[in-house]
Amino acid sequence: MKLVVLSESPEDEAAVRILVDGILGTQTDHLDPPFLRARGWSPLLGILPTVLRNLHYHTDADALAVIVDSDDSAPHRLAHVPHDGANEGCRLCKLRLVADQVQNGLTEVPNRAPLKTAFGLAIPALEAWLLCGLDPRAIEATLLQRPDAGTRTLRIQLKRDVYGTDRPAQSVRMARAVEEARRLVQILDEFERCFPDGFGSFARDIRSW
Ligand SMILES: [Zn+2]
Repeated sequence: MKLVVLSESPEDEAAVRILVDGILGTQTDHLDPPFLRARGWSPLLGILPTVLRNLHYHTDADALAVIVDSDDSAPHRLAHVPHDGANEGCRLCKLRLVADQVQNGLTEVPNRAPLKTAFGLAIPALEAWLLCGLDPRAIEATLLQRPDAGTRTLRIQLKRDVYGTDRPAQSVRMARAVEEARRLVQILDEFERCFPDGFGSFARDIRSW
């Protein structure tokens, strides 16, 4: 299976590739998207339609996996219906909505199966996932109940907990992301129990491929 990963940084993408392979229980071939990757939520949402069209018409990619941070936006819930306007602030539902609209407008290409997609939301940021199983407070529901939920203060604290500093060098970010993602795929059941909405949605998408 040829997989393209889209996330907010090269480190996040490295972690996501490991998670996808762990969920599938197989090693995927990794394709780089044939254009500059977006960094951050708004640019990523902005290029998603181009990415989907490009992959469909110009590549033999089988699947696209996308993970974004929720930051201070509304957390996703498994019960969310993407086409329900009530979830307007949810980034995961927004990604699904845009992807559905684009994919429904694609014309068939001979011998080309529809691109498989998976969307996940790291609540509030990927660092929370990297702490799962190490810090008993690294649980989606617990993080959402904290007085500082949705604030930059919490996200800075999570960085300190993962990297020992809130301004880690890129090499440190990459090493930690890879190390912890490799650990998480050994505890996928626990990881999904701790992050049922943001990671659980992603895992369910992948298991449906
Ligand atoms: Zn949602």
